[in-house]
Amino acid sequence: LEKVRKIYKMGEVEVEALKPSSLEVYEGELLVILGPSGSGKSTLLNIMGGMDSPTEGAVWFGGEDLARASERRLTEYRRHQVGFVFQFYNLIPDLTALENVAIAAELSNTPLSPRKLLEQVGMNNKMDSFPSQLSGGEQQRVAIARAAAKNPKMLLCDEPTGSLDCETGRKILSLLLDVNRQYGTTVVIVTHNVAIRAMGRRIIRMSSGAIAEMTFNERPEPPERISW
Ligand code: ATP
Ligand code: MG
Repeated sequence: LEKVRKIYKMGEVEVEALKPSSLEVYEGELLVILGPSGSGKSTLLNIMGGMDSPTEGAVWFGGEDLARASERRLTEYRRHQVGFVFQFYNLIPDLTALENVAIAAELSNTPLSPRKLLEQVGMNNKMDSFPSQLSGGEQQRVAIARAAAKNPKMLLCDEPTGSLDCETGRKILSLLLDVNRQYGTTVVIVTHNVAIRAMGRRIIRMSSGAIAEMTFNERPEPPERISW
């Protein structure tokens, strides 16, 4: 991200959600982005994922500036190169766990096996359940399997543990770490939960729409040891 700025206009009022900010995300890293509510974390993540375009600045991905890409190219980028995990799982209610994952794999050029992914996230017994029949933690496991099914370059997670208890949240963080290690997927975790900073090797803190601080953690804690 090069001097990326985002202004939302609401009638006469302008909100500078993101002040001109630059950030390099490294291939294969696990990056934690922290900051209080309203500090611009989701705005930053959405710009990275091609879900929102910046008012100013460039978004480089493999030599291409996504801030200047066509809508068609952005759709392709979101479909094939990026996986998303949200606070409220966003599974398709009419499809089973397996179908939710399979549909994502179908959209991809390099799909991973939906069954194998669901086994990996410990959902082997509930592949044919519908989202309404699953707990929050189970739905989030399916959502991670779905995001990973595309074998994306980058997994963007916005408050992935936000609606889960600590115990379940730890399991979800472990899964994200597994995906990062096993497939070399770049993982970006946005959260306002400071306890989660312990698992990041690099931590960025946002404040009032700006990147206020970047710290390095030589010894990230395994998610099993994090509690909040
Ligand atoms: P939270 O932890 O509550 O999710 P956040 O750090 O993700 O907060 P953002 O969602 O990035 O914060 O919002 C940053 C600022 O931009 C806030 O002041 C917010 O009100 C504003 N904002 C975000 N999205 C929009 C929008 N679509 N229209 C207008 N203002 C917006
Ligand atoms: Mg947010």
